[in-house]
Amino acid sequence: MQSHNVYIGLGSNLDNPTQQVIDGINALAALRETQLLATSSLYASAPIGPQDQPPFINAVALIKTALTPIALLDALQALEQDAGRVRKRHWGERTLDLDILLFGEQTIEHPRLKVPHPFMCERRFVLEPLLEVSPHAHLPNGTALSQVLPKTLTQEIWHHCTLALDSLGSVAPQ
Ligand code: AMP
Repeated sequence: MQSHNVYIGLGSNLDNPTQQVIDGINALAALRETQLLATSSLYASAPIGPQDQPPFINAVALIKTALTPIALLDALQALEQDAGRVRKRHWGERTLDLDILLFGEQTIEHPRLKVPHPFMCERRFVLEPLLEVSPHAHLPNGTALSQVLPKTLTQEIWHHCTLALDSLGSVAPQ
């Protein structure tokens, strides 16, 4: 079966966000037909949308999966539910948000799934961790993400902590 390298964006700003994101990365590693290849550091960022909510913790994970894009989306939405996902308002607080950023070289226009993720090029908290994992990553149209990053640099993000893969294949703060 064909496998693809897929970048997943993770974000949380409720119920111990650092742990939510670490648990989310470990849950990605445990998905069927899927292997965790790499993870970025954790970053903190100010919320987009309503400002009266806690800052977010964000990361990007690189997985290799034989799941189809929609099967992966279903699996991610199940993980969000498992995390007790709370959605209070649009672009508001959430316990765990999982986005498919890039799926191999594919461009996907499906009612449930758009890839590349429609907002990824506008968000420093996506681009910077993704480029930490893969400095030469590019969009399916060939645009290097390193060329897109500069226009997002007015958005503040902070390096929060580095993660390390242990011998059992789980991630933990370093
Ligand atoms: P949000 O929770 O704001 O990230 O939005 C979730 C909704 O976006 C779900 O209904 C998904 O079906 C849809 N969606 C569209 N494209 C994507 C993507 N690339 N990754 C994750 N969800 C997506």
